[in-house]
Amino acid sequence: MNEKVKPVVSYRNIRKCFGDLEVLHSIDLDIMPAEKVAVIGPSGSGKTTLGRLLMTLEEPTSGTIEVDGEMLWHQEVKGKLVRASEKHLHKVRGSIGMVFQHFNLFPHMTIMKNVTEAPIRVLGKSRKEAEAEALEMLDKVGMADKVDNYPSQLSGGQKQRVAIARALVMHPKVMIFDEPTSALDPELVGEVLNVIKDIAKEGSMAMLLITHEMDFAYEVADRVIFTDGGNIIEEGPPQQIFENPQSERLQSFISRFR
Ligand code: ADP
Repeated sequence: MNEKVKPVVSYRNIRKCFGDLEVLHSIDLDIMPAEKVAVIGPSGSGKTTLGRLLMTLEEPTSGTIEVDGEMLWHQEVKGKLVRASEKHLHKVRGSIGMVFQHFNLFPHMTIMKNVTEAPIRVLGKSRKEAEAEALEMLDKVGMADKVDNYPSQLSGGQKQRVAIARALVMHPKVMIFDEPTSALDPELVGEVLNVIKDIAKEGSMAMLLITHEMDFAYEVADRVIFTDGGNIIEEGPPQQIFENPQSERLQSFISRFR
């Protein structure tokens, strides 16, 4: 990889505590532009917290996170690092796409409105322009025929595909998928993973994929991160992580999926 290319996401010395419980210890993690990074690890190891910090849904106890050269929780004012204003956070959030376990669609809006709301309100696009692009993205996820439906009329897999289109229309620099299939019935998992695989193949966007779907991580990720007990224990290309795990903890974790 070209040494001069800067990471699109940098976690530096990130600690996160909930009360007395430290759930992430000194995490350093860079994600390069267009890189697909999968995070695997046992339940409670800190995967979701790692993602929620980048989604700006949790604030780190200490350390910094940068997205596309901008700090998430801090900003420089007159050469001093101070706590970021809401306005600054709002701006940086524009580079971050989020797909949640539970879809989080707006129940009272049609699919078209769900997907056009942010481009119109946040990016200032015209309705016509936003609708044309929404249709393009909904087509990409196989949902173009549902524009006039409401979320309650869709299956879980369909809702998640709409949620992906809703994130895509914002053209984020990085997309975070937080266990996007864990709330789905098993027969609906494949359709969502296939959509994510297709988007990943298109290339331009970095992705942080928190998942317990090991085959999916193997296929999609450029790099796999294994977390346990709030630390990154091992990382590397999928072949190395899944076929030649070094640490005992990763060996034991992987063996459960064989
Ligand atoms: P994973 O995604 O790997 O299952 P999480 O990041 O959800 O792990 O959780 C890591 C640890 O942090 C767990 O011990 C969990 O109970 C704890 N935790 C997560 N969120 C909170 C919270 N809001 N308040 C208190 N503890 C939390």
